[in-house]
Amino acid sequence: MVPPSSNTIDFDLARQQRNASLTAPTRESDPEVLRALRQRLTAVLQASLDLERVLQLFQQEVSALVDLPGLSYRHAREGIDISLGQETGHQVHYHLSQGDIPLGDLSVCRSERFHEGELMALELLLGSLMFPLRNALLYREALNNALRDALTGVGNRSALDRALVRELELARRTQQPLSLLMLDLDHFKRINDRFGHGVGDDVLRQTAQTIASCLRSMDMVFRFGGEEFCVLLSATSHEAAHTVAERLRAAVETQTSREGAIPLSVTLSIGLATLRDVESARCLLQRADSALYQAKASGRNRLCSLA
Ligand code: GH3
Ligand code: MG
Ligand code: MG
Repeated sequence: MVPPSSNTIDFDLARQQRNASLTAPTRESDPEVLRALRQRLTAVLQASLDLERVLQLFQQEVSALVDLPGLSYRHAREGIDISLGQETGHQVHYHLSQGDIPLGDLSVCRSERFHEGELMALELLLGSLMFPLRNALLYREALNNALRDALTGVGNRSALDRALVRELELARRTQQPLSLLMLDLDHFKRINDRFGHGVGDDVLRQTAQTIASCLRSMDMVFRFGGEEFCVLLSATSHEAAHTVAERLRAAVETQTSREGAIPLSVTLSIGLATLRDVESARCLLQRADSALYQAKASGRNRLCSLA
């Protein structure tokens, strides 16, 4: 395999000078062709705020001039990794930024080597991607924030509602089980009363982290409200969910307070319900809530379940 070449582009500093040096009489170095494609790109890329769609449109439009069968985009800090087409052969990497704002890394690849004229054209056309890319990243961030609980960082109630619709549909289609846990911190009001809301908030944050750290990456944790959390376990039977719930209960019971000096010990009551053949999301939630109520009524720091 040919070692990848690497380019760093800062579109606020460099760019247009390279265009001036385009002299070879090829299509991709024709200023008129490039100008027309840039104009077209600017219009086409406005059509979407979805990051993957913006990249697809870029790949599609640029391919009219420079063949780009493979394009990948990564933004490590945002946890974004998108691959479009093949990822083998000759590769060229671009580190994208606008001033101080990092916009991720873009790589293009194909079986034949890219020649200099094509790279110059590509770099010029990348200029048209910068604003649409930045807008798509901002949009993605806004969407993520709208679905995240501000205090704990886990999913919020809207995210739970969306996930329930999606997971119920998936469970039905794939004939896989789906289990739901409702978790409620025991006597949480006493923690606020004794140590203040700041410590109460810390305990909520820490408990959310403890719960998330006990789950598989495909499991989903949400703050249902106040001191209540909800965990969706896809492709998980009632028995397996029982084991997970017991693990969560034990982990929270033994978690140590970051405040060290404060003798804080918190416990969880958990209600478990597993999706029935014909059941709505609302009904599944209600059954998990009833099981939670039973756990509270029978002494707290325990798990109750409804098959
Ligand atoms: P139980 O074992 O029956 O669940 O008792 P509890 O005290 O946990 O339940 P209760 O419903 O009586 O009280 C819940 C408390 O959670 C009261 C409320 O002030 C507190 N709470 C809800 N949201 C937050 C929050 O965001 N931060 C803090 N610090 N406290 C919160
Ligand atoms: Mg509660
Ligand atoms: Mg409670």
